[in-house]
Amino acid sequence: MTRHDTTSAATAAGPAPSAAERFPAFVAALTVLVDRGADEPTLLREGRRLLAGLVAHDDWLPAAAARARDDRYAQHLLHRDPQGRFSVVSFVWGPGQRTPVHDHTVWGLVGVLRGAERCEECTLDAHGRPQLNGHAHVMRPGDVDAVSPTVGDWHRVSSAREDGLSISIHVYGADIGAVQRHRLADDGTVVGFVSGYDSVPA
Ligand code: FE
Repeated sequence: MTRHDTTSAATAAGPAPSAAERFPAFVAALTVLVDRGADEPTLLREGRRLLAGLVAHDDWLPAAAARARDDRYAQHLLHRDPQGRFSVVSFVWGPGQRTPVHDHTVWGLVGVLRGAERCEECTLDAHGRPQLNGHAHVMRPGDVDAVSPTVGDWHRVSSAREDGLSISIHVYGADIGAVQRHRLADDGTVVGFVSGYDSVPA
């Protein structure tokens, strides 16, 4: 099951950066955290606080990273750690768009910036196969979720808006667009996939 306690922006510590400074300050703070060699519980706890601070303000995302696709949700790379230790991605959802049931294989944090998303939770059956368990929660701007093989790695995510776009900012403990991952196919089998990115920073 995905962990989904909500983190209030009011818990974000430190001085308030300007709109132009928000994302570079976030990346710098995350880099310090990773440089420290923090373990996963620490990364998720402190990363959650940093991400909650970032998505508390919807004034910094470049327009190029807020573009939707007609055929499916879009994934725009915002930052790739030079050593590949983490990546930050903007996910843009149109009405009705959703992921398959999928895993991540690395730690991840998801913070909603705009609109709303529905996260359907999974449990693993006796054979280790993911099954939607009927539990779902809706995330709104400022909410942050954590995923990982330790805290719960499988879910299905969709836009929770009837119209307009929803945007969430994701942080993963790898260059996620290049990671070999898994999804549930329509016939119920687990198949591999690599997500790639729809755009990368210039
Ligand atoms: Fe996911």
